[in-house]
Amino acid sequence: MSKQKEKKIKKLKKMHIGPYIISSILIFFISTIFLSCISHIFVQYMQNTKIESAHENAEQFADAISYAMAKEQTLNIDESSTNVYDIIKNMQYLLHYSGTICLVDENQKVIKRFGRHIPDFENELFFAPTEELNLDFKTSYKDTIYFEFKDNILKLLASEGNNTCATLDCWLIQPLDYGNAYVYVEMEITLKQNELIYVFITIALISILVVLFIVVYLVTSFGAILTQRRLSKILYLDSITGDKNWLYFRVYTPRILKKYTKQKYALISLEMTKYRNYCNCYSNDEGENLLENFSKLFLKEKRKGEIFSRNTGAEFGLLLYYNTDEELRQRLEDLCAKLQNLCPHHTVHFHVGIYPVDNRKYSPTIMYENAVTAKNTITLDTTDDIVWFKEEMLERQKWETFIENNMENALSEHQFAVYLQPKYNTKLETLAGAEALVRWIHPEKGIISPGYFIPLFEKNGFILSLDDYMIAQVAKQQAKWIKQDKKLVPISINVSRAHFTQENLAEHICKIVDAYQVPHELIELELTESAFFDNKEVLLHTVHKLKSYGFPVSMDDFGSGYSSLNTLKDLPLDVLKLDAEFFRGENTDIRGKIIVKEALHLAKELEMKTVAEGIETKEQVQFLAEEGCDLIQGYYFAKPMPISEFEERLQVIDQPAE
Ligand code: C2E
Ligand code: CA
Ligand code: CA
Repeated sequence: MSKQKEKKIKKLKKMHIGPYIISSILIFFISTIFLSCISHIFVQYMQNTKIESAHENAEQFADAISYAMAKEQTLNIDESSTNVYDIIKNMQYLLHYSGTICLVDENQKVIKRFGRHIPDFENELFFAPTEELNLDFKTSYKDTIYFEFKDNILKLLASEGNNTCATLDCWLIQPLDYGNAYVYVEMEITLKQNELIYVFITIALISILVVLFIVVYLVTSFGAILTQRRLSKILYLDSITGDKNWLYFRVYTPRILKKYTKQKYALISLEMTKYRNYCNCYSNDEGENLLENFSKLFLKEKRKGEIFSRNTGAEFGLLLYYNTDEELRQRLEDLCAKLQNLCPHHTVHFHVGIYPVDNRKYSPTIMYENAVTAKNTITLDTTDDIVWFKEEMLERQKWETFIENNMENALSEHQFAVYLQPKYNTKLETLAGAEALVRWIHPEKGIISPGYFIPLFEKNGFILSLDDYMIAQVAKQQAKWIKQDKKLVPISINVSRAHFTQENLAEHICKIVDAYQVPHELIELELTESAFFDNKEVLLHTVHKLKSYGFPVSMDDFGSGYSSLNTLKDLPLDVLKLDAEFFRGENTDIRGKIIVKEALHLAKELEMKTVAEGIETKEQVQFLAEEGCDLIQGYYFAKPMPISEFEERLQVIDQPAE
């Protein structure tokens, strides 16, 4: 996945409600602290204003006393100081004051007391008018709130009636202008409910706004999360199976591997083969239903910590954990059997490639590609449909990529050369035919044998173009020799079984050959028996048509793998080519000879010509001559050779071979 794409997907990563709740709680706490600070500052302001106005009252007492003392010209205040006494009484009366007033000297000795209370310097509150007033006991003025919030203010707000109040008992100190003494005035400072109410209404409003904000914030966040979840559901939805799609698989594979570090994991590519055929048979909708059912089965079978998704077509990727290789294989076999049960009316096959995850840091794409590489090694010729990835498979894949990247170019640049392997008359040992075999003459890699690229061409379909090319090249060459009055022999060409899906194959071949005006009997077509299994009807039809057009048709590789005598019964072929396997190794034993003898006998009965392939020794030639095999193709007489070399042998046609 490209970095840019990864970034975009990361942006769509799951949003969680946690951070929103935490930030709401933070907003709530911050605003609570802010509001309590504001209310503290306000109460403090109220308190200070009250203390200041109380000081003004105390100052009036102090001024009056100072005035009286100055008038009496005395520093001694006693019962006889009627002036002072009267003034205080009058002022108490005027100011509606019922508290205690004390005259205190600089040593804190109460000189005179008007009222019942004696100042308690240890426990009571004393306010000095200015901070500079140097008293050697604790006085206070600002920066402290003496109204306890919890006990006073909140109770005050909660109580009913506007006139309820919180009170603070204290002494206010005022120095006398006359003599070194102070007036201590006892005061009760009060805060009334209605004095606080507006502030607290404002605070309450702000609190409501904050709470509202938090609620709206949380609701919109929830909404965003829900939308995002819905979006990511769509982002990870496979429209065919209705389950998770391939993007999900790629994004979540590394996450799972990171999370479950103790489990042994494998990435698996599981593909239903011939899915297209299934769709052609039952309709595309039915095909999609089948995939949906596969997906449902996977969902049922998967365990916690495992995921799966459809990749393309009928190919699924699975991330499964396992303990032993055998256990995983068994599980996959069971899974394939269950998948087969989902369509009882049709036989389905699965190819499975397994990549055991040994390094969790590899990208999921690379790991999955390895599983696909393993899966792609499964062909019709391999026996096992479940294959484990091996490093050497990568080399093969590299080679295959090289071939696929170069094949088109190679064809247009005529890098594919026709080599001809002569076929000799067994008895006369004269040239009687040839097989055209392709060689890729690569400018850098040199001559590449067909075994390295034909199987791949058969898989990727390029074989159709190559075979057409070979037919055209051979027809062209025959036409050239006709013009040169050469004595010609039939040249056989391999027709891959991939061609037999084409209904009009015979016409197609006819058209290519006729372009060079070559008699059809000079072009022989070799087909392998396995073609017969793919589509019997079409094959029979094509063979009949080819024969009616005059092309000899031979069965290649008779006796290898797929042989069945039934095929011979049904197919009206001209030539039977005995596979080289009959003559390999120790196969010259009695049993082998009996089989070859019987096959030759059978072919004779069916009026077929016989060709023995891969003949390398004189003994083999002698044996085949005795048993009446018509032609021999093998290294004993000649290896496949370039046309120019073959041409030399053509000139000596009907002459005994050396
Ligand atoms: P085939 O059709 O069975 O071709 C015979 C193969 O046996 C050839 O291998 C040939 O070189 C080899 N051979 C012949 N005589 C002997 C012998 O005495 N000893 C041994 N050890 N080998 C012998 P080649 O050319 O490598 O071709 C391999 C296969 O590739 C062919 O098997 C054929 O199936 C396929 N092929 C080759 N050319 C074409 C083509 O143009 N089109 C298609 N569709 N397939 C082709
Ligand atoms: Ca052949
Ligand atoms: Ca053959």
